[in-house]
Amino acid sequence: MGIVVVWLKRDLRLSDHAPLLEAKKTGLPVLLVYCFEPILLNDKHYSGRHWQFILSSLKDIQEQVPKSALICLKGTAVDSLSYLHQHFNIHGLFSHQEVGLDVTYQRDIAVKIWCDQNNIVWHECSYAAVVRGLTHRTDWDKNWKKVMKAPLADSDITAITWANLPENACQLEEISQSLPKEVGNFQQGGEKAARETLQSFFDERGQSYAYNLSSPEFSQQFCSRLSAYLAWGNISVRQVYQEMLTHWAKKGCRRSLVAFSSRLHWHCHFIQKFESECAMENRPVNRGYLTLPWLQGELKDIRLKAWETGNTGVPMVDACMRSLQHTGYLNFRMRAMLVSFLSHHLQVDWRLGVKHLARLFLDFEPGIHYSQFQMQAGVTGINTIRIYNPVKQGEEKDPSGSFVKRWLPALSEVPTPLLHSPWQLSSMEQVMYNINLGVDYPKPIVDIKQSYKEAQALLWSWRNKPSVKVESHRLLNCHVRPSK
Ligand SMILES: Cc1cc2nc3c(=O)[nH]c(=O)nc-3n(C[C@H](O)[C@H](O)[C@H](O)COP(=O)(O)OP(=O)(O)OC[C@H]3O[C@@H](n4cnc5c(N)ncnc54)[C@H](O)[C@@H]3O)c2cc1C
Repeated sequence: MGIVVVWLKRDLRLSDHAPLLEAKKTGLPVLLVYCFEPILLNDKHYSGRHWQFILSSLKDIQEQVPKSALICLKGTAVDSLSYLHQHFNIHGLFSHQEVGLDVTYQRDIAVKIWCDQNNIVWHECSYAAVVRGLTHRTDWDKNWKKVMKAPLADSDITAITWANLPENACQLEEISQSLPKEVGNFQQGGEKAARETLQSFFDERGQSYAYNLSSPEFSQQFCSRLSAYLAWGNISVRQVYQEMLTHWAKKGCRRSLVAFSSRLHWHCHFIQKFESECAMENRPVNRGYLTLPWLQGELKDIRLKAWETGNTGVPMVDACMRSLQHTGYLNFRMRAMLVSFLSHHLQVDWRLGVKHLARLFLDFEPGIHYSQFQMQAGVTGINTIRIYNPVKQGEEKDPSGSFVKRWLPALSEVPTPLLHSPWQLSSMEQVMYNINLGVDYPKPIVDIKQSYKEAQALLWSWRNKPSVKVESHRLLNCHVRPSK
């Protein structure tokens, strides 16, 4: 009789899942398929924490459906589909469109060719409010609202005729043994965990969201922490948006909910930018910056290494990097500061740091990551130039110093007024506070006042170049809503 395949990628859930709903409507047995693809297993944006999250998400799905309804295979998508077609006769392929890296785009081209050769129709549903191939933003906001307010694409999973593969076909257990592993305190994947996080945000944590957004310590508790669930599709943006609306009239929450709502909008807005201009994976979105001079040679390698390992000697930068290594999470402001420090203060090409942070962010989402990275590195030509001062960020966002002290125990006895700039400690103070700079904790890798001045001069001189301005004009037309 044959089956229809729902190909799971970054949509690891069963609710509000349009491809699953469409597959169910065919009346044919439905098989859920996840491919552990070498192109992603070997990709430098991915790390063990991502695979563990994917694994826990798949286990969560496995618990909701009969064992024979989900199959996980290790191999290319085309090889996996060919294998399934040979054994079970695929009548249709259903999936979400992936707004992904170049490797997944090339993979999709190969899958399309394979489908055409085998007379299999591939039904692709759009991702959230992202429109494929869009070249302008007229009516984009209207469409976003429409998509967010549309009924959820829920299917009664008990009423689905599931494919009936042999119970041992799944291979998830075997594959899980070979996946890269990482030790840390990371969020676990799955729809159940996503729903619990969503509920706890709206019921308890979210009220003071707007006031704690940028604190490296408090944001861990008061931000929604939904990003990883959204990035791997354990929950849809629409589900989050609709849940938010049910709390809209709650007393004392409006400011936080307004701030939160804009971020859900940004989620799709940034992924749309990447969809419209995916070349930004490899070059500045504004081609005027192609020849921006970055640091070269051994000094560049030394600085990059210090940044990657949290050893720059600038406490706020190092604490953020070390916390990120251990938890996979950092709030927006601190992410922006890390990128600004790399590209502005250290003068290292953003392209050399982009994969490192992708590997560390549990919520790595190519569209948001690349768009934000370039914005913070100052190479878009259309956004405000922001060069973060990490000392000021520390004094404002970690005034008690508890975040820095937690991640940099060598500084634990340093009094708060000097904590964010320990290079000011005299030799006698170093003895008093039990710290030997250059031994227990590095001396600063740059003089941040000097590096700030140099970066500012460079960025503003480039901003006014004709080649940057021409590109800025093009970008405004493509990525920004037309002004009324
Ligand atoms: C250099 C850099 C790289 C980033 N890379 C990623 C990434 O790979 N994946 C990712 O999900 N976010 C990324 N962000 C955006 C943002 O920092 C995270 O979405 C946010 O910190 C996640 O925490 P949260 O879920 O508690 O967010 P909340 O503040 O609770 O926001 C709710 C949701 O809105 C979306 N959102 C929030 N802020 C932004 C933003 N500035 N731009 C776009 N969407 C946003 C996220 O989906 C988030 O889960 C990046 C930001 C920077 C500066």
